[in-house]
Amino acid sequence: MRLRYLFIAVTWLCASLGLRAQVDSLALNYAGTITIDELREHLTKLASDEFLGRDTGKEGQKLAAAYLKEQFVKAGIPAVPAPDPASIREGYYQPFDVVEVRSGTISIVKNARTYAYGKELLYFQEVLKAGLGVKELTYVGDLTKAPKVSLRDKVVLMDARNLGSGQAALGTLRTRVELLRAAGASLVIVNMPALADLIATTHLSDTHMRLADSGVKETRKEPPTQMILVDESSMDQLLGTTTMAKLRRKKKARTVACAFELEVKQGEQRLTAENVLAYIEGTDKKDEIVVLTAHYDHIGVQDGVVYNGADDDGTGTVAMIEMAEAFMLAKRAGHGPRRSVLVMPVSGEEKGLLGSRYYSEHPVFPLANTVADLNIDMIGRRDSAHATSPPYIYVIGSDRLSTGLHQANELANSLYTKLDLDYTYNAESDPNRFYYRSDHYNFARKGVPSVFYFSGVHEDYHQPGDDVEKIDFDLLHQRTLLAFHTAWILANQEERIVVDKLIKP
Ligand SMILES: [Zn+2]
Repeated sequence: MRLRYLFIAVTWLCASLGLRAQVDSLALNYAGTITIDELREHLTKLASDEFLGRDTGKEGQKLAAAYLKEQFVKAGIPAVPAPDPASIREGYYQPFDVVEVRSGTISIVKNARTYAYGKELLYFQEVLKAGLGVKELTYVGDLTKAPKVSLRDKVVLMDARNLGSGQAALGTLRTRVELLRAAGASLVIVNMPALADLIATTHLSDTHMRLADSGVKETRKEPPTQMILVDESSMDQLLGTTTMAKLRRKKKARTVACAFELEVKQGEQRLTAENVLAYIEGTDKKDEIVVLTAHYDHIGVQDGVVYNGADDDGTGTVAMIEMAEAFMLAKRAGHGPRRSVLVMPVSGEEKGLLGSRYYSEHPVFPLANTVADLNIDMIGRRDSAHATSPPYIYVIGSDRLSTGLHQANELANSLYTKLDLDYTYNAESDPNRFYYRSDHYNFARKGVPSVFYFSGVHEDYHQPGDDVEKIDFDLLHQRTLLAFHTAWILANQEERIVVDKLIKP
């Protein structure tokens, strides 16, 4: 009996696997056009100094966009037939406006002396948009409890001496500032004796960037309260005869005279950046779209040094070029995908996933028809956990929304690439939160099944040494093939994959 059941089970297993788990010789054929030599050729170009670190909205990013377009045109990929032609420029670009904000625009001035960002003061968000003359401060001590009095429109002075130092103090500080905000404070000056430590461990970027039009309707909530951290000796100078030490002696909240000017310099400039689109139209299921993304922007030139971003994300970018070519070659030979494939190198990722965010709010093709997004961000190196391991790839997010996506990826791997699929970073408890940190997330948050291919961080991550010489092209090649075969399955299988998992915010 037991043998008989086993026999039936094995027969069933073989039959069901046999139906699905077959090597597709066409897929194999076109995967063969993705070569190590071509990956190397494109990456050597894109990760050279000529491309100036591909900074979003700047010359280097424009040069990279033009290079990508050139490759798509060479491959015979026609201009994108966008339902709204005005959304596409020059046949291949989706432009979007960004606002670059210079950091350190707020400073304190008293008696012709300036207290500057990153020196005597620090803050994490510019809420103040215009200057302000301060006459008095409401001192609230270290605020272990919520304030009992209304602080409506008051400029508050809080003492953070007991909060410890460094980044650890910041969490507590933010909760306390939240209490002050709830009580109506318009501005919070924080006396921070250990400010120097905090400045030393804070990344003081020169600029940050946001979308000019996120596409999301502004919910009219109150802006956060501006919080400015000041070191204690500067605070004493601002206070004049009343010092922090004197203030601490009495426990009660009270008003102290303290006059200074808050200066806010204009520090915004508007720039345009681009996503680049290569659209390979499908056949009998062409209204359904499989999207492939990778960010081609990086972090530009800093202090005269070009950050080439060979791994981050030159590797994903050249994978895009090769996959687009492979699908187009298949199409021209009459073996094109049944569903449409949109290969989309995006920009603005390093500034906060801006390009993919813009696309997800202004999709060129409806998101309801978007089957999946396969995103590649850094697939050309090994991390320390896999220094000597067999070939591997981190797979993140594949099973969060759709069992079908997860299965397609595993099937592609078992048939074609046989990499170790490492799901470490897919754990919801992963403290790195990689699931939220690359462009697939903008599709996932809209309910589109998404997977993020990643080979992990290394010592050159966001360093000038992220260069092409350090790329393992054999690994880059195999990982690109995994994404390609997964895309091929998703684009050609009879049933569209479905969302069958809870969408969590
Ligand atoms: Zn990246």
